[in-house]
Amino acid sequence: MNLLYKLSNRMNLSATDTTSAATVATRDKIEAKFKWSLHDIYPNDQAFQADYEKLKEQILHFEVFKGKLNNANDLLQCFRLRDEVDIKLSSLFAYARMNRDTDATNAAYQAMTAQITTLLSDDASAQAFIEPELLALPAETLLTLIESKPELSAYSFYIKNMLRQKSHILSPIEEELLAKTSELRQAAMNIFTIFTNADLKFPETITESGQKAPLTEGRYNQLIRSTNREVRHDAFKNLFNTYSSFRNTLATTYSANINSTMFQAKTRKYQSTLEAALDNNNIPASVYTNVIDTIHKNFAQMHRYVALKKKVLQLDQIHMYDLYTPIVPELKTVFPYEDGLSLVIDSLQPLGQTYIKDLLNGVNNGWIDIYENQGKRNGAYSWGVYGLHPFVLLNYDDSYNAVSTLAHELGHAMHSFYSSQKQDYINSEYTIFCAEVASTTNENLLLDHMLHIVKEPEKRIYFINQYLEQVRTTVYRQALFAEFEKIAHAKAEIGEALTADALETIWTALNTAYYGNDIVIDPELKIEWARIPHFYRPFYVYQYATGYAAATTLAEQLQTEGPIAQKRYLQYLQSGGSDYSINLLRQAGVNMTTPKPLEITLEKFSKRLDELEVFLLK
Ligand SMILES: [Zn+2]
Repeated sequence: MNLLYKLSNRMNLSATDTTSAATVATRDKIEAKFKWSLHDIYPNDQAFQADYEKLKEQILHFEVFKGKLNNANDLLQCFRLRDEVDIKLSSLFAYARMNRDTDATNAAYQAMTAQITTLLSDDASAQAFIEPELLALPAETLLTLIESKPELSAYSFYIKNMLRQKSHILSPIEEELLAKTSELRQAAMNIFTIFTNADLKFPETITESGQKAPLTEGRYNQLIRSTNREVRHDAFKNLFNTYSSFRNTLATTYSANINSTMFQAKTRKYQSTLEAALDNNNIPASVYTNVIDTIHKNFAQMHRYVALKKKVLQLDQIHMYDLYTPIVPELKTVFPYEDGLSLVIDSLQPLGQTYIKDLLNGVNNGWIDIYENQGKRNGAYSWGVYGLHPFVLLNYDDSYNAVSTLAHELGHAMHSFYSSQKQDYINSEYTIFCAEVASTTNENLLLDHMLHIVKEPEKRIYFINQYLEQVRTTVYRQALFAEFEKIAHAKAEIGEALTADALETIWTALNTAYYGNDIVIDPELKIEWARIPHFYRPFYVYQYATGYAAATTLAEQLQTEGPIAQKRYLQYLQSGGSDYSINLLRQAGVNMTTPKPLEITLEKFSKRLDELEVFLLK
């Protein structure tokens, strides 16, 4: 697996929607203490360029090892060169990309990102001979080679995993050619990102104050929660109609991305794109189908939840734009960043004092970019830089949702921090499958904490509603996404054209099934698939559902078992990618090959829904 691929997975994108402030400041108006310190990576752009030049040179040294990997000394030197190059290249990429993400209008960082993307591609080409050359050796010879030198033992899981995928690795010439296509294969995703973040403009929309303001994705996420139906309807209509006016372009872009995934899967001799995607982390196919099947068996709770919303909101008809509005009074409480952080810290006590101490040290030392500014990427993510520390991008807006996102991203950040600290580079990278467990365990602990400290029934139901919304958006909605991807890819694989019409038909059918007969599917909704950035990382989102299910189970263990569970959990955070995801999670205390963790989660959902029903319908 090359570095380019790994880096494209490194960013732990958040599924949690974030909102935006009424007026958005330019970046230079934000105080330094609220910004992350990318200078920790490079003190300035000159240092970045110097490292870039050095690295371009260093990449040429791989050539020396061609044909020599059958002896332990050269093998070790080659691995060490690769580690060194990849660590540096990751830093270069992180620096350029995170600068770009905080100010997309800055052309210099656009250019630097492009520069490193090219270098990543060159690096992939330069290293492309390594795995085929190793795999040309008989498996036993290779294993003996690794055992012959103690310093090589760090690479034994990597070798074992590589041998597992042996039948999908191509000849050296084919691998080199494939590596050279890596930039081409990312084109659809890059076009989508630039189009939606830089060029796509939405019309003005009615805001809470009754005045009109330009719509953005960030503002949409705020307005769709409005208790004023006109506001949320207007935002919904304006946003979706804008996407709709580019429906053919967006269908072609998405379809191009699927073609790229199919090209890769076919070239590597997989039966399907899904099989290829799961094989990367050695995830059994049953884990994916379990999610969809278990959700299908539990549609009733979701339909019941939609019906409750309809009743409480006193609507004749419930539309998709009514789903995000709270059915219980909004909290009057706002959570300025410092208060939000305190709540997160309090809620994470079950993780122990070491975790808390390390976390505080990070947030006080430039890990986080807190507030929205003009040109800043929307949403939130965490990005670990090996040998340094993780970085967290937020668009914090004082809502409870923002507090929850903070808990979520810090979960990722601490996972990166501990894995980087305890593991050699080769074993430090945790899989996406494992990633969402660390983040949603924190979200679960935060919510349970809120339900623990808040006694007034009126406020409690707010948090119960928050919980139900979390499961709706993280489990049900992501399962819907996962099913959409499965169907779209399967259609492409049998040669069906993925036109805008075809994609809209799939989307409509799934929404009807998931939300039930009570929901009215407006014509605008059909286009929603076109705005989901995650679809450009195929078969990624099902892991939100599996991650949430594992997290629910683990949070429960942390709360009931105490130190034993805490020790298991910290070991999990330190384990990086030193074993297969399913094994690491099993050691942490949860078996993901069964539907059990998801069943536990949906049962908890059902119970909390009961509690809400009793309160609201009394
Ligand atoms: Zn996440």
